[in-house]
Amino acid sequence: MVLCVIEISAMCVPSSGMLLRSGIGIDDRCVLHASCTARPILLLCSPKMSSKKQNDTNLAAEEALERLREGNERFVSTERTPGALHDRDRMTALLRGQHPFAVILGCADSRVPAEIVFDQGLGDLFVIRVAGNVVAPSLIGSVEFAAVEFGTRLVVVLGHSHCGAVQATIADLRQPAGEGSQNLRSIVDRVRPAIEPLFATDLANDPERLENESVRANVRASVQQLRAGSEILERMIASDGLRIVGAEYWLESGRVEFLE
Ligand SMILES: [Zn+2]
Repeated sequence: MVLCVIEISAMCVPSSGMLLRSGIGIDDRCVLHASCTARPILLLCSPKMSSKKQNDTNLAAEEALERLREGNERFVSTERTPGALHDRDRMTALLRGQHPFAVILGCADSRVPAEIVFDQGLGDLFVIRVAGNVVAPSLIGSVEFAAVEFGTRLVVVLGHSHCGAVQATIADLRQPAGEGSQNLRSIVDRVRPAIEPLFATDLANDPERLENESVRANVRASVQQLRAGSEILERMIASDGLRIVGAEYWLESGRVEFLE
């Protein structure tokens, strides 16, 4: 059997994210059998993918984080950008593709719309919303998709005060509800491990502090699950500048507090 060494040229490599899709790191040398079709490495050289390199305008994680901080400041000070979500020119430009600068994994609560509380417009944020901002395989897959396809380098898990999913989990821990919707149960079951240890502390006797700390514990748990629950994300964190951070939105003030 003849072995050939194929080095992927810079022109063929749109981003390390594309390489990760095939499980091949940016620093790896690709050694393939010339006629082997078992590994689809040649897909990396498609014109569609090489064009992403030319159009890559994504921000570094720190820059993206700063943009979110500034946007939330505008929201809090009621100086939101006029028409950010109704920009016809922007809609037309986005027909060519998207480059969201941050992924937001947030709660589905109607009071916490990510684009509004961060004062961003069409195409700026890749928003994934689910009650309790819990992490399940399809949600990890959604984050992977944005990080790999669009080169987005910042992921924010956004919890919030007075979260119904957290409140339901606390209530269930105090008094198990018994039979009910298995689908709802699946959310509570994902929140519970982060909150249950708090019941063994003094917080158990202080309902307000218990709820606040539970929100944060749940956010931190989701951050950790994203950081450690995906080989792709782990690799991008280690070598490609991906950051996953937690944040809490306060319904009382409209302010987003980043947890690190
Ligand atoms: Zn919530």
